[in-house]
Amino acid sequence: MSQLLDNFRLSAIPARSEAFRQDVKGFLKQHVEGLPADVRCRSWMAFDADFSRKLARRGWVGVTLPETYGGANLDAFDRFVLVEELLAAGAPVGAHWIADRQSGPLILRYGTDEQKQNYLPRICRGEIFFGIGMSEPNSGSDLASVGTRATLEGSGRWRLNGRKIWTTGGHKCDFVIALVRTSGEPADRQKGLSQFIVDLKLPGVTVRPIRDLTGESHFSEIFFDAVELPVDALVGDEGQGWQQVNAELAFERSGPERLYSSIVLLDRWISWLKDTGEFDQHVQAIGRFAAQLFTLRHMSIAVTAKLVRGESPVVEAALVKDIGTEFEQSIPALVEAALTATPGLQVDDDLLRASAYVSHMAPTFSLRGGTREILRGMIARGLGLR
Ligand SMILES: Cc1cc2nc3c(=O)[nH]c(=O)nc-3n(C[C@H](O)[C@H](O)[C@H](O)COP(=O)(O)OP(=O)(O)OC[C@H]3O[C@@H](n4cnc5c(N)ncnc54)[C@H](O)[C@@H]3O)c2cc1C
Repeated sequence: MSQLLDNFRLSAIPARSEAFRQDVKGFLKQHVEGLPADVRCRSWMAFDADFSRKLARRGWVGVTLPETYGGANLDAFDRFVLVEELLAAGAPVGAHWIADRQSGPLILRYGTDEQKQNYLPRICRGEIFFGIGMSEPNSGSDLASVGTRATLEGSGRWRLNGRKIWTTGGHKCDFVIALVRTSGEPADRQKGLSQFIVDLKLPGVTVRPIRDLTGESHFSEIFFDAVELPVDALVGDEGQGWQQVNAELAFERSGPERLYSSIVLLDRWISWLKDTGEFDQHVQAIGRFAAQLFTLRHMSIAVTAKLVRGESPVVEAALVKDIGTEFEQSIPALVEAALTATPGLQVDDDLLRASAYVSHMAPTFSLRGGTREILRGMIARGLGLR
């Protein structure tokens, strides 16, 4: 236990990265500040290609990628600052989010020179967007049991058959990076898995949006029916998909987005309380949220410091995500209870819509990116308890 706690050594964001924060704030003031709260609450669930391209023109998409590929070559602290400001403002960053956070870094780490030249500059310009093709109807938590299969044909091409589900932005993005079986059987588990970059416009691909509790369709089901993939669709080595996907999940879980899903709602509620003179009634609850956020944010910065040092803080990231999503879920629960406690209380529509949206989405916070139970299993293993 003490070893794990020691891993959260207090770290500070360097002055250079803090200075960058002012540029980001200036940009967001111009492009995001006036948007309604319920629009801003969607943030990394909101697919807005125009916004992503505006950000790309500032050089802020694919930020950790090298300049040779059009990236900004920023480190994890700079990215932390950028991401934190985008999420706190509620910027609609969903279109480029996955490519910036994990597909681009994955291609940089495992891709061939041709793949890097082909995809990375277009990611940085906001021209192409990616989705994650991991989950399947019977392989969510148990990811190693994926059944989608790619078979090598005599022509050197791959033929893909199967089905992915819950792909965020799947019906709007251009490519998914799919984890599929290339040899053996599902019972072989981690062995025989590989990753492919699949162009969603290829013949044989069908993408069906899935409607969620909010009535919107932000994710999709994707069917592959004898899809012919070019030789260079394979990313990394055949059979190394499990190792690669775990590196990808570490990118996915380590960022500050696991703390900020309800922050626009919290901000909007606080400003409404101040406007209506109700702030003092809720000061204890708000103080508690502030203390929790302060602590979680510093844990997240400690994880970022480990990334900057070239370490792989998988267990620490799981811990921050687990506690972070509890924090994110407690905000809409309390705001909703406060808004409905007094019959006849006049609440403005903008705040009500924001509260309704976040309350409907909150159950997903502890599912996406690995469920609470799975993360707790990882933490227990990290503590030597399993
Ligand atoms: C909003 C949202 C966006 C998503 N986006 C994507 C995406 O872009 N790409 C993608 O590939 N996937 C995506 N997912 C899917 C997500 O990763 C899975 O929902 C998640 O991994 C759980 O898998 P499952 O839904 O199959 O549930 P299951 O694995 O069937 O789990 C059901 C329940 O059983 C519990 N459980 C399962 N196994 C164990 C165990 N061993 N020990 C203890 N408890 C266990 C789980 O914690 C859960 O509570 C998204 C999901 C959501 C909600």
